[in-house]
Amino acid sequence: MRRFWSAWMALLFGLLSALPVAAREAAEPQGAVGDLPVVVVGEARPLNLKALGTTVLLKTRTTGVEDEFLVAATDPGLPRLASLFGAEWAWQDGRLLVRRGDLKVELGLGQEELPPDVGGRRLEVPARLVDGAPHVPLSCLEDLLAVRLTLAADGKSGWVEPLIQSIRLEGDARRPKLVIRSSAPLTFKTFSLRRPDRYVIDLAGGVLDTPALRVTHPELGDIRLGQFQLGPAITRVVIPSVPGLTIVAPRPGPSREIAFELAMQGIAAPARDFPVQKVTAARVEPMASGQRVVLQFSGPVQYEWSRLLPPDNRFFLDLPQAILVGPKQEFQVQDGHLRSVRISQFQTEPAPITRVVVDLEKAAQTRLTAGETPHSLVLEIRHDTIEPTMAMLKGYGTTSFPASGGVVCLDPGHGGSDPGAVNRALGLTEKEVTLDLCLRLARILRTRGWNVVMTRDDDRDVSWAGSSAREELGARVQIANDLAADVFVSVHCNASVNSAVKGTSLHTFKGSDSLLAEELHPTLVAAAGRPDRGIQKDRFYVLAHSRMPAVLVETAFLSNSEEARLLGTPEYRQQLAEALADGLGRYASRYLKQTTAGP
Ligand SMILES: [Zn+2]
Repeated sequence: MRRFWSAWMALLFGLLSALPVAAREAAEPQGAVGDLPVVVVGEARPLNLKALGTTVLLKTRTTGVEDEFLVAATDPGLPRLASLFGAEWAWQDGRLLVRRGDLKVELGLGQEELPPDVGGRRLEVPARLVDGAPHVPLSCLEDLLAVRLTLAADGKSGWVEPLIQSIRLEGDARRPKLVIRSSAPLTFKTFSLRRPDRYVIDLAGGVLDTPALRVTHPELGDIRLGQFQLGPAITRVVIPSVPGLTIVAPRPGPSREIAFELAMQGIAAPARDFPVQKVTAARVEPMASGQRVVLQFSGPVQYEWSRLLPPDNRFFLDLPQAILVGPKQEFQVQDGHLRSVRISQFQTEPAPITRVVVDLEKAAQTRLTAGETPHSLVLEIRHDTIEPTMAMLKGYGTTSFPASGGVVCLDPGHGGSDPGAVNRALGLTEKEVTLDLCLRLARILRTRGWNVVMTRDDDRDVSWAGSSAREELGARVQIANDLAADVFVSVHCNASVNSAVKGTSLHTFKGSDSLLAEELHPTLVAAAGRPDRGIQKDRFYVLAHSRMPAVLVETAFLSNSEEARLLGTPEYRQQLAEALADGLGRYASRYLKQTTAGP
């Protein structure tokens, strides 16, 4: 049997188990089954109930039963309340009639149990005549309208709130939807919490129908649900973050069905040149003061690693283009620092990704190194802990590169939530121009033997939507630095408030940047056919923080209608790409063998 006030408040504050037995008994509904309590119809008690943004007044009578009231079946507030939750309420031929969707429920005077369609709850105070007028128990609103009634401490007001009937994951495990269904439209807001990273959905006005609801995803782990607040109700859903997880929220307008798309992308493989390889061996073996995971591949692979901070302590190693032959492997270690290692085919389509999940006991020290044999990778887990705030949380690497030439990191400026400069007249954004130009440049360079790494090769943020410029640019530079690229080229379009301003420029910061810019400059300016704005020295983030010769190219001005029209044509972008490829080739033949390739 369900009590709407005392049991929920006790649950909310977690007091139930702490209460002495006598007090807990007193919080139980009075009277056992078959032993109806004595009903003493008492004073009139007007109740102001807040429901879905409006207030409805009900004239009730106390009953002598705790938190139960009688309300005239013909009280005009009842049909109003019912209609808010999509139901009809009528007193007809001496019976209460409630319709909600396909459901049609009747309740007569003296009836001690609700119909089975609405749960069949036994009524402590059945419907009865009071002063000749039919009255029904207030608590039956909960069953008949699928709502939760919460009374304020003053006993004069309360909340009628929809029930969250289900929260579950639907669809396939790689791209599941978290679907929240409620008995009436809910609104929500979302926000992120850091350390550990998690995504929070606060559902306003919804009460969990069953507090024991659990949602578990094989990769994400437990999605936690809780009644954060009652009267007014807030239900909180907390999704733990894992690498490659993106969450797409629906529009925040009120809805009975709210679906969040959880896309598990695996990693945003910065380099796509790597051919598919097999994982030919995987083992976990002890080493001096720790354990090591040894992976052997059939050829060069790249990897991305990331780790979650305490209390989660999981370490992820993603291997794009790697195929795990055979079933998933699991190693139980339990040495106090390392709990277990799981290796599985995380994704097969559109490209394979093998994922290694390392469950650490604590913030154990880890190190990724090349193995003793070619195309192998060793993850050391030491019997030593890191200071979690000092930990790097993400990184990239390769066992080696497949092509014989140099490694160039191409950075198409902006992307995802950041369009960069926009030419509204032409409907052209900087992010699409830079991406297309870089994809063209990558194709040319690959045919000339370069290993090409791209900070992005589709329309997205490299860090995450809504990140600061520093985080976004930092994520781009980190790809180039981690993969020890030989050169870094960031491609942009310029813009000015003065639409007459035009021309092509190259930007450098470090001394080593100038040599690269000087090789790119003549062919680029000739191909662009625009005024030459020269090589300029600027403390741009990607130039200052890259550990290799880098240049930022401002191709032309999107704010100038003539140049924007040119940038909008594929032929012009191809022309610029070829010019940059030629310049990079000249640079490579003059300097690359003599220049150290990063750290
Ligand atoms: Zn830009």
